[in-house]
Amino acid sequence: MARVFNFGAGPAALPEPVLKQAAAEMLDWRGTGMSVMEMSHRGKAFISIHAEAEAGLRELLAIPPNYKVLFLQGGGAGEFATVPMNLLRGKAAADYVNTGQWSMRAIAEAKKFCKVSIAASSEGANYSYAPKQGEWKLDPQAAYVHYTSNETIGGVEFHWIPDAGAVPLVADMSSHILSRPVDVSRYGLIYAGAQKNIGPAGLAIVIVRDDLIGQALPGTPSIFDYKVQAENDSMFNTPPTYAVYMAGLVFQWLKQAGGIKKMEEINIAKARLVYDYLDQTEFYHSPVAKEDRSRMNIPFTLRNDALDGAFLKEASRNGLAELKGHRSVGGMRASIYNAMPVEGVQALVAFMREFERSHG
Ligand SMILES: *Cc1c(COP(=O)(O)O)cnc(C)c1O
Repeated sequence: MARVFNFGAGPAALPEPVLKQAAAEMLDWRGTGMSVMEMSHRGKAFISIHAEAEAGLRELLAIPPNYKVLFLQGGGAGEFATVPMNLLRGKAAADYVNTGQWSMRAIAEAKKFCKVSIAASSEGANYSYAPKQGEWKLDPQAAYVHYTSNETIGGVEFHWIPDAGAVPLVADMSSHILSRPVDVSRYGLIYAGAQKNIGPAGLAIVIVRDDLIGQALPGTPSIFDYKVQAENDSMFNTPPTYAVYMAGLVFQWLKQAGGIKKMEEINIAKARLVYDYLDQTEFYHSPVAKEDRSRMNIPFTLRNDALDGAFLKEASRNGLAELKGHRSVGGMRASIYNAMPVEGVQALVAFMREFERSHG
């Protein structure tokens, strides 16, 4: 069967050239006579793969030298726990901004470790916007301020970097990291599960400022201690080697594609195709405040939800897969990460238009 345009939120589409390269190297990685999956993580070959992946990410995001880059396991949700374990640094409370499902998951986990203050919340508006800086009530004594810079389910993206003063700012960037340039120096810590915009599931990336590590809670397991992992080049235990390799290939692909400034231009254009159409039809509806709409995850509903089933079935017949919205919110969602070509977005909009014409 031909490859489909996969609009799944994660695990999500990967760039086709990356999959092809991985396939070509599957049995013999560059004359080693073995697959990357079969290599020792202590061997020269894998150490070079790991170092290249880290260098690629550092270059793409212009990560300053006083930040560690960690390749960890446990996904984004693992970081919901490891962030408080590592960043409380003897303090009793942390500030969280609640913008939807992923914020709530992070908050629930943090509550196991500290007092959580909700600095701002969009709950009252069904999580349809990103609270403005002026609405944030920050506690200068907080260990850190956590926010979800792109809510994958609600489709709300912060298009600005919050100011947390002297308190370290922490962002869950799982679903929009590498989709746009970001000033890493504004953050204490950035984390992301890989399966949205980086590579295979199971890998989590942490970018953390040097001075924030080394004070993990007593009892923190070694594999979850950023200091221990940093001292061991993220190889305190056997790392997810194949996922790191794939991430490295994605970083190379991004560099060849012109870097993330270029990627941002493409992402703006792709998202505009969908939102411009949503804004000029009564048939579909976008629930998110215009200025906070995500470029990566676009939830929308059909005004007549009795047509949902037909929409999904016909979309799938047209090679447009995984458009069903998250089970908690219903409707539809198109995730259009870096790996989604503009042709896929054009095909989606053409399909939506045709579906409206034939069912409207
Ligand atoms: C997917 C996602 C997560 C969870 O990632 P897992 O790898 O499943 O733990 C966390 N935060 C955000 C914003 C996500 O989109």
